[in-house]
Amino acid sequence: MDLHTLEAYLQPSTLQQVPDWQSDWQWLAGGTWLFSEPQPQVKQLVDLALFDWTEIEEDERGVTIGATCSLAKLAEQSWPAKWPALLGFQGAIAALAASFKVVNMATIGGNLCLALSISTLAPLMVALEAIYEIWHPKNSPRWVSAIDFQTGVQQTILQPGEVMRRIFLPAEVLTRQVSYQRLGQHASDPALVLVAAIYDPTTTQTQFGVGACTPAPRFIQFSQWPDQFKLEEQLQQILPVADCISDFRAGADYRQQMAKVLMQRALRAFQPD
Ligand SMILES: Cc1cc2nc3c(=O)[nH]c(=O)nc-3n(C[C@H](O)[C@H](O)[C@H](O)COP(=O)(O)OP(=O)(O)OC[C@H]3O[C@@H](n4cnc5c(N)ncnc54)[C@H](O)[C@@H]3O)c2cc1C
Repeated sequence: MDLHTLEAYLQPSTLQQVPDWQSDWQWLAGGTWLFSEPQPQVKQLVDLALFDWTEIEEDERGVTIGATCSLAKLAEQSWPAKWPALLGFQGAIAALAASFKVVNMATIGGNLCLALSISTLAPLMVALEAIYEIWHPKNSPRWVSAIDFQTGVQQTILQPGEVMRRIFLPAEVLTRQVSYQRLGQHASDPALVLVAAIYDPTTTQTQFGVGACTPAPRFIQFSQWPDQFKLEEQLQQILPVADCISDFRAGADYRQQMAKVLMQRALRAFQPD
């Protein structure tokens, strides 16, 4: 939709060209959310397009993904066989309740910075122990872990003018297996619960990023394969019913129970016997 309240549009080619940040400015990435509803509080958009932060780089330390890399590119990427956990991108992108138009234009940085509770990428990033590099036109860069980044629904630790530059995924987690689970009323409805599970067959260490049922994703880790008792215990501690979303689509109790069911499903996917 047209944004009638916009007064200016800036398309810098370097971060240094961005003038002093004002509270009614917004970074523009794929624009799929920004142009999907009125933005009366936004007076200027600062486009990230010319920065061309679309890289996908692999080295022995892991994978680095530029914040403006599109979701479509991530879904289509052929990842090295030694890093099966990266196949989680296919699951996370297939779990979006969005059309191919959104998937083609939306960026990974846009998805994470928009910080919807239903973000399908956020639980995967948490499970993969991702860290994000944050830039500011005037200040030094800083790194923040995925679990600390999103603090609520459309709330992150980003300060005015800060921009997500890249996402780093460490190699030691990428060698593990992944299972991505989604629960929703329909494929086209936003998810009620999302679970990204990572499993190390050598040590049986298992960890989960759980999203959609809470305002911000949670991280649940087991140093060894969890039995039902341990699973339940950690769930009650890290994802209590009081922290789960309750709305017209599902109650908090139901969401918490279904988070457990999806975690169990992921465990069965790793050890079908
Ligand atoms: C119909 C529809 C259905 C959707 N369903 C889902 C769904 O089921 N699950 C899901 O996860 N998402 C869903 N989305 C959200 C979709 O994933 C987002 O629109 C998309 O991820 C936003 O990406 P974008 O690159 O287009 O960001 P934009 O729309 O350009 O920006 C979104 C926000 O992020 C900020 N931003 C963008 N990039 C950066 C950056 N690098 N640094 C700092 N701030 C930044 C912008 O300032 C803005 O506030 C849906 C969207 C639509 C329109």
